Order: sequence, then structure tokens, then C-alpha cells
Amino acid sequence: MAESNNESILEGFLCPICKADLKSASQLTSHFETLHEEDVDVLKPFKDFILGTAKKIIPNTNDLDLKESFDRALKFNSRERQYDEEQAIGIVRSSTDYFKAVRSTRLERYATETNKLLIRLDKLMCNLPTDPNLRKQHEQNVVPWLDGSSVKLCPNCAKTFNLTRRKHHCRLCGSILCHDCSVFLDLNVARSMVDPSKSCSSSTSDLEVSDANGLRLCEHCYNLIELRKEVQDSRNLKTNFVTAYEQMTTLMEQAKPAVTMYEKMCQSLFDGETTYILSDVNAMRGRIGKLAEGIDALSKQIAAFPVEPGTRQHKLQNSIRQAAAYYIKEELLSLRKLPTEAQLDEVRRQRYERAERQIQWERQCLQDDEFNEGTSRNYQDFGTPNLNSTNVDDDNPLLEQMNIIRGYIKEARKQLKFEEVALLEANLKELKKEYQLQMLSSRT
Ligand SMILES: [Zn+2]
Ligand SMILES: [Zn+2]
Ligand SMILES: [Zn+2]
Repeated sequence: MAESNNESILEGFLCPICKADLKSASQLTSHFETLHEEDVDVLKPFKDFILGTAKKIIPNTNDLDLKESFDRALKFNSRERQYDEEQAIGIVRSSTDYFKAVRSTRLERYATETNKLLIRLDKLMCNLPTDPNLRKQHEQNVVPWLDGSSVKLCPNCAKTFNLTRRKHHCRLCGSILCHDCSVFLDLNVARSMVDPSKSCSSSTSDLEVSDANGLRLCEHCYNLIELRKEVQDSRNLKTNFVTAYEQMTTLMEQAKPAVTMYEKMCQSLFDGETTYILSDVNAMRGRIGKLAEGIDALSKQIAAFPVEPGTRQHKLQNSIRQAAAYYIKEELLSLRKLPTEAQLDEVRRQRYERAERQIQWERQCLQDDEFNEGTSRNYQDFGTPNLNSTNVDDDNPLLEQMNIIRGYIKEARKQLKFEEVALLEANLKELKKEYQLQMLSSRT
């Protein structure tokens, strides 16, 4: 039973050179800097390692710790402030830094104490024997039990120990307590605490937890473990929740320009322009549909996260779902209907006729002018130059450029990059115009 007392277990801020237990990170640092100064260079990487990770294994909570950091915080502050300076009325000073300095040391105290317990819990849960006697031995190897031979009263409730009120030990700190003052930590919960991959189903919570399926703890240790568990749980819920929400907003951000682009493309079709083809606009519509599906699925997932009804979290989840459903209905599903091929043909025919009329009219004006001026100039038909004339040469760099741009347009279409398609189409139009002018000038 007392075997573990011979080889005492070292925990805490241990100096790697002289094995002294230094109680806190800051004390270990100053110890290192004063006593082992000559080794500093050789040990630098090692030292960095210790100071960087020491926080995980902080033990003995000592009020000196707190006092020290308090003093440091005060000193830090008095350096920042000049108290001899007379204060003007209405001046506000921030005490946030001071508050944080005091608060973080307090939080750290809890965190480090809890971490120490978790390390022990991990050791306890590792290969925990099922046989009660073997298990007792294993437990005492990890955490030595306090010698209770001289203890007559339960330190917690002050009742006398006797045949019916027997002495028990907290499995995490080894302290003595009576059965009434013991709290049991469910072994499944304990397992999920040390290995987060094993999520704990709370199905066993209806069952009475006792020595067999739980760990006997003192109230102090139990509360620290329970507190950490709450933090872990809320953090896990939050990450899943927040991730889903962020994914949803990303999809919404993508949907916005997609809808704008779709409207633009649609309008262009209705105007009879040839920048986009019907299948382009259809593809864009399909993409928006996909985004809507994604947003819908994520918002449903958010609404289905387990939460206590009536809480603010519950309200929030429902509101997100409602907002998403509304957004999909109003912004993504109310898209303008696409024209049919027949409608497009009609629009294009009308456009062509309009252009024809315009040309006729301009020709008429020109002829009238010529008639009025009495001069006879050769009339050039700028609208329809004959590109199949003999001067067409395939080596024309303009033609080559136009073909390259056509290739780009095809590629951009495939990738649904319609902003690019529009730009390239405009370029192509410019080149065509230039080419026609070139042909005309070479003809004369
Ligand atoms: Zn040392
Ligand atoms: Zn008691
Ligand atoms: Zn305890």
C-alpha cells in the first residue's frame, strides 16, 4: 500500500537542473536566471521549452503566488501612471490592464490546479483495473493517500469517524473524508475528460454513481473537474455552431454577386445583346440554386443543434434559421424568369429591324446631303463591309488576336466567370470594328 511513498511522484514547476519545485512559472524563471545563469546559453532551447510548457503542470497553489503577481501588477501600473501629476477634472483613465493582470493570475491559479487534477485523472483512467483490490492499489500508486491514523473527525463535516462512519480518500488529492462528504465522478465522464475524442453520452446519469462506476472525490476536486467539463462542453458546442454559421454566411456572400450577375445577364438577353448566350444564364441560375441549397442545409443544421428550449441560444438558433429561409425565398428564389429561345429570337429580330431602319434613315440623309450639295461622292457602306473579298489574309494579326480572345471567352464561360466573358466580348467587338475599318481602307 505504501509502496508509492518510497518513490515520490514529482509534479509541478520543477527546475530541470536541481529538481527544485518552484511553485510558479515566474519563480522558476527567476530561479533559473539567478542560480543557473552560467548555463543559460547551453540550455536556452531547453529553457524555452520549460517556460513555454510549464503552465500545463503547475501544482502547489500558494498564496505567495497571488501576492507576487498582485505586487507586479501594482508596480506595472504605477510605472504607467504619474500620480504626482495633478488630475484634471473629468479625465478618465483605463484600469483594464490592471484588471486583466489581477484577473489572469487568479484564473491561472484555477486553471493550473485543474490541469494538475486532469493529469492525475489521466493516469488514473489509464488501464484502470476492474478488480476492486487491484484498482485500489493502482489509485494509490497515482495519488498517495494521506495517512489518516491520527484523524478522528471528518475534515469537511467534523463528524467523528467510527465503525459506521468510515474514513475514505479523495482519489485526486488523497485527502480524508467521510462517505457523506464524498462525491462520485462518473467513470464515463472521467474518460471523456481525458480523451475528448470519446464523447460522453449522459445516458448513465440516471444511474446512481458509486464506488463501482465512479471515482470518489472530495467536493473541491469534483467542482474543479465539473467546471472544466462545462467549459469544454460549451466550447465544443460553440465551435460546431460557429463553424456552421460562418460557412452559411460565406455562401451568402457568394450568392450576392451571383444574383447581381444573373440579373445583368438576363437584362442583356432581353435587350437582344449577344454578349451572353442562354445556356450561360442558365448555368448561373443553377449555381445560385446550389448556393441556396447549401444555405438551407446549414441553417437547418444550426436550428437542430441540441439546446435547452426557451434559452437565448435556442432563440438565436431559430432566428438564424428563419432569417436564412427568408433570405433564400426573397433573394435567391425570386429570380427573374429566363426568356425562351422563341422570345430571344423575337427580341433579336426586332433589334435587327431597328438597326436596318436606322441604316436606311442615315443613308437617306446622306443622299439628301449629296443632292443638296450637288457633289457626287462615293458612298461607302460602313455597316456591311465584304469580308469575303480577295484582300482577306489569314495572317492578319487582328484575326489572330480575335481567335485568341474567342478561346478565352470559351474558357471563361466554362468556369462561369461571366464578368470576364462580358469584358472579352467587348474587346472582341472592338477588334472586329478595327478589322472592318482596315478592310475598308485597304479596298479604296
Ligand atoms: Zn535549479
Ligand atoms: Zn464528512
Ligand atoms: Zn480531493
